[in-house]
Amino acid sequence: MTFTTWGRTFTAEPARRATPRDEPELCAQVARAAQDGLAVRTVGAGHSFTDAAVTDGLLLSLDHLRGLESVQRLPSGDALVTVGAGTRLAELNRLLAVQGLALRNLGDIDRQSVAGAISTGTHGTGARLGGLATQVRGVRLVLPDGTVRSVSDADPAGSPERALFEVARLGLGSVGVLTAVTLEVVPAYLLRSTETVRPWRAVVDGYDELVARHERVDAYWFPGTDRMLTWCNDPLDRDEAAAHAQRQEGAAGALRRLGAAGRTLLDEEVLANGVLGAAMHVAAAAPRWVPRINRISASALSDRSYVAPSDRVLVTRRRVRFVEMEYAVPRSELAGVLTELAAWLRSSGEPVPFPVEVRCAAADDVWLSTARGRDTAYVAVHQYHRMPRERYFAAAEEIFVAAGGRPHWGKLHTRTADDLAAHYPLADVAGVRAVVDPDGVFRNAYTERVLGP
Ligand SMILES: Cc1cc2nc3c(=O)[nH]c(=O)nc-3n(C[C@H](O)[C@H](O)[C@H](O)COP(=O)(O)OP(=O)(O)OC[C@H]3O[C@@H](n4cnc5c(N)ncnc54)[C@H](O)[C@@H]3O)c2cc1C
Repeated sequence: MTFTTWGRTFTAEPARRATPRDEPELCAQVARAAQDGLAVRTVGAGHSFTDAAVTDGLLLSLDHLRGLESVQRLPSGDALVTVGAGTRLAELNRLLAVQGLALRNLGDIDRQSVAGAISTGTHGTGARLGGLATQVRGVRLVLPDGTVRSVSDADPAGSPERALFEVARLGLGSVGVLTAVTLEVVPAYLLRSTETVRPWRAVVDGYDELVARHERVDAYWFPGTDRMLTWCNDPLDRDEAAAHAQRQEGAAGALRRLGAAGRTLLDEEVLANGVLGAAMHVAAAAPRWVPRINRISASALSDRSYVAPSDRVLVTRRRVRFVEMEYAVPRSELAGVLTELAAWLRSSGEPVPFPVEVRCAAADDVWLSTARGRDTAYVAVHQYHRMPRERYFAAAEEIFVAAGGRPHWGKLHTRTADDLAAHYPLADVAGVRAVVDPDGVFRNAYTERVLGP
């Protein structure tokens, strides 16, 4: 019965676990749990580092509620696709590719469920792009009494339905169990990916210019080194894509092979597996070696460029287990935050063999989005799961909070609803929860801490 998060940060012993075969069975299980006085949570892929999915009541898995329900083509070439909420992003990417479609943006892995990813505000990078929840046009969800509701962004602004939609599309599962999600997706596209090693200061001071020049920028910095790897991804325009396809002509499956070859250095060798895994073992056993390990990791990075379908470029595999804290800060605060973090790392000598990651997003209007109302930079600190993180994360969090930061809902942090009330319309969120879930069936310790009772 035990549930453990991917990062080994939380475990739970739910009284019941269920994997309903279809929506009617799910409805019956939710209603029965509510009658029995059990709390109800749903787990996606368990990839949140927080206790977002933890419960001692009924823990549901929607592994049978997956796949494509419908595709509605729009005159613009975009499409509205409705998928089972338990669909994993990897599966969704495959289903979309068959339709000649793709997600507008993605985070850096594809293991998550659609519902889990949107419920915690999962994001990728791009100064003009929003997180996954901004791509949601409608949801279907099961309420505590086992009834099914559909709400969408077509519901009138200010209506109870629209308010429910806002909390359902990004609200930690606090208003019901999502069973289907309608996403706006775009025609499949190729990305040109360029990895460049740059001086740390040049990235920090030139960040605004960099993200204006490239559609998506991800930057990695090994603490204690003075270089950053920037990973810039830009869509090919129609002519470039045609020329690219022509070059590939005759070589069957060349695009696929390109995709498989994509990211070998950054992903396969440095950030994701073998080399990093081995380095982490050494770091955990002998932390004094960390500065040298980081210098070696940073020097293994080099410039390169390739073209591949969007999901193959954006998705990495993370086989080395780590823990993470990530904060969204106003873009204007980024340089100050990184400078302070670098100063703390230098003065503390803290052994941190994992890179700091910097991403960005456009301001949006999703109620509980970390990018709500402001152009945002994301700064993520990671630590190998077998090494102490407390001092590092506490120091980083102090810097992030002082800069007006908002924690990622699925990553470690210590903020409470009182702290977060200045950032989000928590009273409105509480109002929606009080109407649809007056008995608190969908509550857990985490929702109580960050959203209030
Ligand atoms: C290796 C790794 C890489 C990551 N990369 C990124 C990244 O690039 N960008 C980023 O922003 N985040 C990233 N994350 C964080 C991750 O995307 C989020 O924590 C996400 O929520 C995980 O999805 P999941 O399916 O595992 O959800 P879970 O962790 O299982 O659940 C998350 C929340 O969603 C709720 N939920 C799940 N299913 C339902 C449902 N059907 N109905 C209602 N509520 C539901 C749960 O109750 C819980 O509150 C990463 C995490 C890891 C471990």
